[in-house]
Amino acid sequence: MNQIITGFYQDEEGHWAARLACGHGQHVRHDPPLVSRPWVLTADGRISRLGRTLDCVRCDEEKAQMRMMESQVLVLFDEERVTAVYPDQSIEQVTWADLETVAIHTNDSGPWGSDVWWALTGASGECQYPMGATGEKEMLDRLQKLDGFDNEVVIQAMLCTENAEFICWRKPQVQLGAS
Ligand SMILES: [Zn+2]
Repeated sequence: MNQIITGFYQDEEGHWAARLACGHGQHVRHDPPLVSRPWVLTADGRISRLGRTLDCVRCDEEKAQMRMMESQVLVLFDEERVTAVYPDQSIEQVTWADLETVAIHTNDSGPWGSDVWWALTGASGECQYPMGATGEKEMLDRLQKLDGFDNEVVIQAMLCTENAEFICWRKPQVQLGAS
């Protein structure tokens, strides 16, 4: 994941490292002939690199860990209801009959940008699970069969990296008889 370089510092052995916007540090050694970064040895050289980006290895590792956590949430459904099972074995359920809205919540709180959660809300229950949860794809196939489910909204949500709520489906209003 590319992160902006906000500064430089030296480790205990005097090797230069870049401080990145995510808070991580990453070595930027000048180690010829393997790695040639003569610019890191001068203050001018370092200053000229501020604001550029580096691919942060630590962010990628954290992201991979997060993906593992997400995949430990299990979402499943049958004719009756949707069930999300969390790593601590707690459960959230909502019945299809009860379901009122299907939404996607995006937020910018993650160190690498966007987090995306599905939220299925009914009158008597709510079921939330992250993008990447086990069973999420099967669940999406099922949700897309809901009458009036809006795939365009799903696509918009995927592109969003801010705090936002996207309503993909709402229970159709009961038609009142024409007078
Ligand atoms: Zn990072």
